This record gives sequence, C-alpha cells and structure tokens, in this order.
Amino acid sequence: MNLVAHFDEIFLKGNNQKYFIDCLKKNLCALFVGIKVKRIESGLWIENFEQSEMARLALVPGVANFAVAFASELDIKKISEAVANYDWGEKVTSFRIKAERSDKRYPLDSLQIEKQLGSIINTKFGYKVKLKNPDLTIHINIASDQAVIYGNLHVGASGLPVGSSGKVMCLVSGGIDSPVAAYKMMCRGAEVELVHFQNQTQVTEEVSQKIMDLTAALACYQGKVNLHIVPFANWQKQIVINIPSDYRMLITRRIMFRISNQIAKRQKCLALITGDSLGQVASQTLENLTAVYQSVDMLKLSPLIGENKSHIVSLARQLGTLEISNRPYEDCCSLFVAKHPQIKARLDDVLDLESKLDLSNIDKTEHISYYK
Ligand code: ATP
Ligand code: MG
Repeated sequence: MNLVAHFDEIFLKGNNQKYFIDCLKKNLCALFVGIKVKRIESGLWIENFEQSEMARLALVPGVANFAVAFASELDIKKISEAVANYDWGEKVTSFRIKAERSDKRYPLDSLQIEKQLGSIINTKFGYKVKLKNPDLTIHINIASDQAVIYGNLHVGASGLPVGSSGKVMCLVSGGIDSPVAAYKMMCRGAEVELVHFQNQTQVTEEVSQKIMDLTAALACYQGKVNLHIVPFANWQKQIVINIPSDYRMLITRRIMFRISNQIAKRQKCLALITGDSLGQVASQTLENLTAVYQSVDMLKLSPLIGENKSHIVSLARQLGTLEISNRPYEDCCSLFVAKHPQIKARLDDVLDLESKLDLSNIDKTEHISYYK
C-alpha cells in the first residue's frame, strides 16, 4: 500500500529542512525493507508499505502522522471518480472533506472542492456530513503535479529523525526505565548506543539475553543499535569488600559513569543517558543524583526525570520493551540492595569512601562491543 506521512518539528528548521527530511527518508528506508520514499509538497510519499508495519511506523521518531493514501490526476473529474471508487471502510456513518491546495493556481478553491466532493460522497455512500469529530475525514491535497487523497490520520511519534542531533550513550540496566529513556532520546534526534554493566549473579546469562533483546527491540525504531557490555564482577568485588552497604549502589553508579564516559568518548557520543526519574527509587533523590552525576564531566541527561512511572510503563508497553524488562531476572545482586540505602548522600562522604577503592586501572576496564 501507499502512505502519506507528515512531520511537524522539521518544518521549524528553516534552511536545514532538507537535511532533516533526508535523514528521515534514509531512516525509513533502513527500517522498512522494500519501501520507496519520495518528498512531496505536503510531506513524504511512501510506496510498497506493509500494512502490518503501521504500528511500528507510528513509533518512528520524526513522523508526526500518516495515512493510507492514493494519488489522482489533478482534473476534478478524476479526483471525484477516485474518491467515489475508494473503499472508505465499513464503520463510517459521518464524514467531512478537508481540501488543501499546496498549489494555489488550481482553478477551484478549497471550499469549492470540498462542496463538490462532499456531495458525491454523500450521494454514493449515504454518509452524513459532520464537521466536528466525523468518523471519517477525507483529505484532498492539491499539489502542482497530482492530488494526494487519504482518509483518517494515524498519530505518530513526532520529534526529530534519529541521527539529526548527534550521538549519545545510554546506560541500560534491564529494568523498565532505561530502554524508554533511550527511545525518548531517539525522538529528539539522537542516535543512541547502549552500555550495560554485567553484574555477576545467579542469572547473569538471562540478564545478558534480556539486554540483547532490549537492544533488538530499540533497533525497530532507530535502525541498528551498537551495544557495549562491561563485565563488572571485579568492580563488584572491590565495592563489596570496601564500601558499606548503604553506599554501595551510589559508588557503583559513579564507577559505571566513569567507564561509560570512556566508551562514550571513544564512540564520539556527546552525552550519557540514564533512566533516572526523580524520587522513583532510593538512588534517585536529588542528593544522590548530585553525588552520582558529579563523577564525570560529560553532559548527563535523564529524559525521564519528570515522568510518572505509569506513563513510562505504558510507553514501554507500546515499544515492546516492557515484556522483556519484566522477565524475572534482576541485574543486581542482593549484596547491593541495602536494607536502608543512603537517600541523602553527602558528596564529601562519597569521595571519602571512594578513595578506598583502587581506581588506577579504571580506564582500562575491558568491554565487549556488538557493532551494528
Ligand atoms: P531501570 O528501570 O532503568 O533499571 P531503575 O528505576 O531500576 O531504572 P536504578 O536501578 O537505580 O533505577 O538505575 C538507574 C539508572 O542507572 C538506570 O536507568 C540505568 O540508566 C543505570 N543503570 C543501573 N544499573 C545499570 C547496569 N547494570 N548497566 C547499565 N546501566 C545501569
Ligand atoms: Mg534498575
């Protein structure tokens, strides 16, 4: 089938519009094998699209909305025929026509087109005209070389196409939040790489599989995704031996940030992303975030910081990551889950405790990269 897709924010990009549109076109072609994408006056024209992929298209960053579409010659008779011969669906009782002219030289104005086609639809199908909230809106877009015709629009993710804002490194844990944080960054145009710290537990294998599956799920919206896995057992040991339980999580996260920082720099990423949401768990108080985020200079962004959990969960469900994140394997061993974790960490205390660790080789920490 053919689709018309529109963008919103890209329109604000002035002289850079072409760059953003080319980026979106390239992404769509990489994500949906076999389609053809062409710029038209009102947006993008997509050919050969599989109906079963519409739900995924609705989550592709940069697409504001889209609809199944067909084209007609500009002659109003041809447009009328095309509109009258199309199957507009079974559940329609009310409709409206919305005509727009990208090319204002067309002999009929929008109102005249709407009236003419409205009466044809009314006669042919018996649908009633309803200007507010009709079951069906038939859009007619008059361009310079063709008329593009489509029905109800599906809402898309909006935002900017992946790759238009540079690269970031997202710390993913296997929990619900971090994959959603990665997706949120994609929707702002960032290309996201993932880094995971592999804790040594009874279920290390299962957690690693979770991370692989989350990476594959996120690739549905970005295209291929680079993943870096850092074996963390040696650091875990040092932390358990040297750090009291209430500070272990904080110091662990500082070390994760430092190692991520190294990998991010090498991969030319300009920010570290986390799934932190203010106050959601003990490690995410303002005091603790201050103590953790101070560990590296690179820009740190937490796109979920002001999001409610229920909203994060519903987005994870839509993305297909919730099911994977909910598998019953936690990436953290019990030694790190303190009965009474520190919730108001003082940076001085954290630095004091951290000085007990041997961090001299931290920059040489090994990791395995899975490149796209
Ligand atoms: P999530 O659902 O993303 O796991 P959370 O609410 O469970 O988040 P924490 O476990 O405190 O919160 O982790 C906060 C953030 O720290 C995570 O969102 C993630 O960005 C990062 N993080 C935690 N554990 C790991 C890990 N093993 N590897 C990589 N990043 C991690
Ligand atoms: Mg977690």
